[in-house]
Amino acid sequence: MATMPPGWYEVPGRPGVILWWDGLRWHEKASDPNGTAPGGCELCGQPLGMRRLAGNRRCGDCRRRVTEALKEFRHDATYVLHQGMPEGPHWDGILGKAASCGVPPAEALLSITDASVRFLDRLVTFAAADGVVSNQEIQQFDRFVHSLMIPPQAAASRRQWLDRQRVLGTVRSGVLPRLRPADLYLDIDETCHFDTMVQSVRWLKAGPVKDPGRLVATDKKLRFLSGRGGWETNWSKIMQATARSADTVHLQMTQIKGTGEYLVGDAEYTAALIETAARISRRQILSAPGQRDTRAIPQHIKSAVWNRDRGRCVECAAEAYLEFDHVIPLSKGGATSEGNLQLLCRRCNLNKGARI
Ligand SMILES: [Zn+2]
Ligand SMILES: [Zn+2]
Repeated sequence: MATMPPGWYEVPGRPGVILWWDGLRWHEKASDPNGTAPGGCELCGQPLGMRRLAGNRRCGDCRRRVTEALKEFRHDATYVLHQGMPEGPHWDGILGKAASCGVPPAEALLSITDASVRFLDRLVTFAAADGVVSNQEIQQFDRFVHSLMIPPQAAASRRQWLDRQRVLGTVRSGVLPRLRPADLYLDIDETCHFDTMVQSVRWLKAGPVKDPGRLVATDKKLRFLSGRGGWETNWSKIMQATARSADTVHLQMTQIKGTGEYLVGDAEYTAALIETAARISRRQILSAPGQRDTRAIPQHIKSAVWNRDRGRCVECAAEAYLEFDHVIPLSKGGATSEGNLQLLCRRCNLNKGARI
């Protein structure tokens, strides 16, 4: 019984009698949480007298005690949320201490919502930094959303972002989707990975000229099928695919034909898929697809960079959906070190990609 968290419970051995359990003992005179029992302090049951008319449901003693306990709880809990993980014996102790002072757990958690949401931001950024988001990391996220009572809206948008990082990570690790386009003639042993409507954009003096068509990536070739003819190329001719904005991919080939900008639905995904298919064909991704790649950043470096940059984009100070960015890219010999890493939001990271 002593391990029960504070709350309203039916008293053992007294069917139908619901009283406040403060974590240590029952409060005999407390009213029930739905307010159906005669009035009194909702925490200790003491009569409230005139104060009740002011809408106050707690006596002065309880209010003072709860305010003090909440202050201490916020201090201790915020520290953990900034530096560590809100779980385990230490965290339980912090919650338990507040509860033993009569602070309802929900009230305690709601008082730290901002810090909890910032913790989630750190959690998802750290999870995505390794290139692969595991099921375990998704489950951990869901667990914290539940245990910290994160508001649904704040949780949903971050969960969506995490899911997207998982999809991108899976693609980058070499696991490409297998499609079966019904209306395409592929070689019998050719596997289609990508098939979507795009527009090729050529910049002329008079302005952009758009050529709508279909971009098809298989394990053998990349094709752009359009009314004007389009093109087809082996992967060896693809040098780079870069997302330049949310919907613009730039393809760099060893030839002029095909090199240029393409408007796509999802530039980041398209670029990741084309880059990966090209790397697979160059045998830069060998065995064991789905493994974490060499971009994995050690936990202590992630923490150091996060704290140094104060959990904000170093360019625009955005606080959500941050990414670890190599100042000098890995491809240009940049190291995975504290000095060569910074926090950037997606938009600033895209801008940087477009500059390089
Ligand atoms: Zn009271
Ligand atoms: Zn930014």
